[in-house]
Amino acid sequence: MKQSLLFAPTLREMPKDAEIASHKILLKGGYIKQHAAGVYTYLPLAYKVIKKIEKIIREELDKIGCSELLMPALQSKDLWQESGRWEKYGPELMRLKDRHDRDFCLGPTHEEVITDVVRDSVNSYKKLPLALYQIQSKFRDEYRPRFGLMRGREFIMKDLYTFSTSQEDLDEWYLKVRGAYCNIFDRLNLKYRVVSAESGQIGGNNSEEFMVLCDIGEDTICYSDESDFASNVEHADYPDGAVSPDGKGHICHAKGIEVGHIFKLGTKYSEPMGLNFVDVDNTKKPVIMGCYGIGVSRVLMAVLEQNNKDLKVIWPDEVTPFKIHIIPFDKKGSEGFDIATHIHDKLEEKGLEVLIDDRSESAGVKFNDADLIGAKYLIIVGRKAKEGLVEVRDSLSGETTEVKIEDIGNYNFR
Ligand code: ATP
Ligand code: MG
Repeated sequence: MKQSLLFAPTLREMPKDAEIASHKILLKGGYIKQHAAGVYTYLPLAYKVIKKIEKIIREELDKIGCSELLMPALQSKDLWQESGRWEKYGPELMRLKDRHDRDFCLGPTHEEVITDVVRDSVNSYKKLPLALYQIQSKFRDEYRPRFGLMRGREFIMKDLYTFSTSQEDLDEWYLKVRGAYCNIFDRLNLKYRVVSAESGQIGGNNSEEFMVLCDIGEDTICYSDESDFASNVEHADYPDGAVSPDGKGHICHAKGIEVGHIFKLGTKYSEPMGLNFVDVDNTKKPVIMGCYGIGVSRVLMAVLEQNNKDLKVIWPDEVTPFKIHIIPFDKKGSEGFDIATHIHDKLEEKGLEVLIDDRSESAGVKFNDADLIGAKYLIIVGRKAKEGLVEVRDSLSGETTEVKIEDIGNYNFR
């Protein structure tokens, strides 16, 4: 793709309101544009990455038997009254009225809607279990939206709901989803811990949060330096250096960004909303539910926080907007530029995602912008192009190799 056609309006100055690296990069690199507090447009670069994060999520959830659907963001008050949350949810719920003065809200989460979707058609154990998810914009009027996409008022979430006939079946789904989440966050090259979100429970398994370890995280977690024990200090805290409650290792503390949350709901919604099924023994029982979220747009920032060096972006392989970025030194109409275009076409033909900087900018400007885009490889078409040589630079290691132009099609871009 031609960089002149990629709408990535980079900023020359560092935006003053951005406090953390990922937010600075997103604004400076022209990934996002703020619309209102906590509300953003995902410009093409960010949206490319978002779609790749979503692809990983879809692959891992589909693998364990989940089905994707899409529910409405606009939700009627009636359902929220059935669950009792219309009153309880408070000012975070974005409420509005239609032209007939009927109350609606913009979905901050979808337990009510999914319970309603399923209750009309699932009435027998024969139709269970089920695991349904969507990827969609959520709305929460957060008291303090901040750090760009980290805490937005409109943000993208993947929410999954499971429906089981027994506690054992829910426990199985919970573990399957937990495993899928680990695969997702591993593929995103994130360093994270799974922490208990329950008070006083060791290795609590009714609710766990996935915390990306990061100094700018809003949450604090305590964890064992030797075992998997970890807890959100909101729920259970232990002093630094204390023996871990599971007897293995000692307690340390760290800051974390909550990127995912898995939760055994039980019958919290099925009971009040009448989602029942007839079991093998012919008795009517409430369906046992689980819910599982991933903050997709927050994940984008968490990945950036952990994958930049002094604001130079190094995207993990699976989510990089472009694998290869070609930087010609010469302007359009010159031999060097034609060579660069030839390389671009050849690599694109091979199915690689290639960006060519075809703009009339200085090499300095091009390199600065390349640092913000974070392709894995730079191909620098400079002085030696006329002698048939270009430079391939590995962005991560900084290592540079001279490659003959005729060999570039066979270069091993891993
Ligand atoms: P938090 O404690 O950060 O407010 P939460 O407990 O309200 O999170 P959930 O309701 O469990 O979050 O939502 C599922 C996931 O959605 C969270 O794990 C998080 O990654 C993401 N998320 C929640 N609120 C926001 C927000 N305002 N902006 C972006 N992502 C969010
Ligand atoms: Mg919240």
